[in-house]
Amino acid sequence: MAADDGILKTLIVGSGPAGLTAGIYTGRANMKPVILAGSSPGGQLTKTSEVENYPGFRKGILGPKLMDEMITQAQHCGAELVWESAAKIEGKAPPYSVTTDGGKVYKTHTIIFATGAAPRFLGVKGELEYQPKQSSDAKVGGGAGVTYCAVCDGAFYRKMPVAVVGGGDSAMEEATYLSKLCSEVTIVHRREGFRASKVMIERAQKTPNIKWELNYVVDEILGDPNAKPVPLVTGMRIKSTKDGSTKVLAVKGVFGAIGHIPTTKVLQGVVDLDEDGYIKANDRQETSLKGFYAAGDCHDRRYRQAVTAAGMGCKAALEAERYLTHEGLA
Ligand code: NAP
Repeated sequence: MAADDGILKTLIVGSGPAGLTAGIYTGRANMKPVILAGSSPGGQLTKTSEVENYPGFRKGILGPKLMDEMITQAQHCGAELVWESAAKIEGKAPPYSVTTDGGKVYKTHTIIFATGAAPRFLGVKGELEYQPKQSSDAKVGGGAGVTYCAVCDGAFYRKMPVAVVGGGDSAMEEATYLSKLCSEVTIVHRREGFRASKVMIERAQKTPNIKWELNYVVDEILGDPNAKPVPLVTGMRIKSTKDGSTKVLAVKGVFGAIGHIPTTKVLQGVVDLDEDGYIKANDRQETSLKGFYAAGDCHDRRYRQAVTAAGMGCKAALEAERYLTHEGLA
């Protein structure tokens, strides 16, 4: 819904914890927020299982359930969700013009940008070839082979050997989840030290069917390109970071878990980004443009937690409200 002059008071881009929290706050402030919820509403948490570290749920809560609650809460508070993504953002000062991938054009006095981040690709031969080209491919013959989400695709690899690449919390979490479904899970990590927290490493170490290949990187994902109806992974060649020697792991699935990249392509040349594409913002979530705020994983490379993203969404909403009041637009 637009303000009286046809210009929105605020447009929120993204529907993870940051965007939805901004929606709850701006909705309650009667700013009539529109949230461009994108193609995967709810963001990364819809692809995780149990969330044990979001306050308020003593036994934890399933990620998709948490996001479903947040979406409903934002709507209840007055946010309008639009199931489209921002394709173009124009203007160097408010009001900004935002065009969606569906061709809608919004004019808005403030923007809260909260698009999150997407999985980082391994960048090796075979990675693109053996990714499912459409979601139904993942179900074929135990999975097309390369994926980045154990909760989404793990069930397609039941009783099969798989590998998880990475040494952070995501890798430990994915491996632990997969160990309950798959015959064997091999964690491939490029060094002996881990970024993952002690508790997550210990949980994985205690799991009998989790094996470790440390000091190895992926050299190539191997498979049968002519398999019907889709190409299938048959293994993965890994290369030692110590002596360059290689060996082949016979796995049916490769789960990439080597971090994320911020979803900020649409902002190139619009606001200041750092060298890796994260939006530069101060501790009030203000970016290089007036009335333009950033919140969550598209800005934050350090904490990347649902609760910190939600906190940033709250701060951005309060700052947008103060800005509108200051400008006499509230
Ligand atoms: P991360 O902490 O950045 O870890 C990425 C891992 O991938 C690192 O071990 C890194 O190795 C490795 N890596 C990066 N690029 C690589 C490449 N090109 N080839 C091979 N290996 C590569 O990412 P994350 O695990 O996704 O976690 C992100 C954030 O989310 C963290 O703050 C984490 O605590 C949080 N998280 C929390 C939970 C939870 O609490 N339940 C679950 C998942 C994630 P190096 O260490 O050698 O750089």
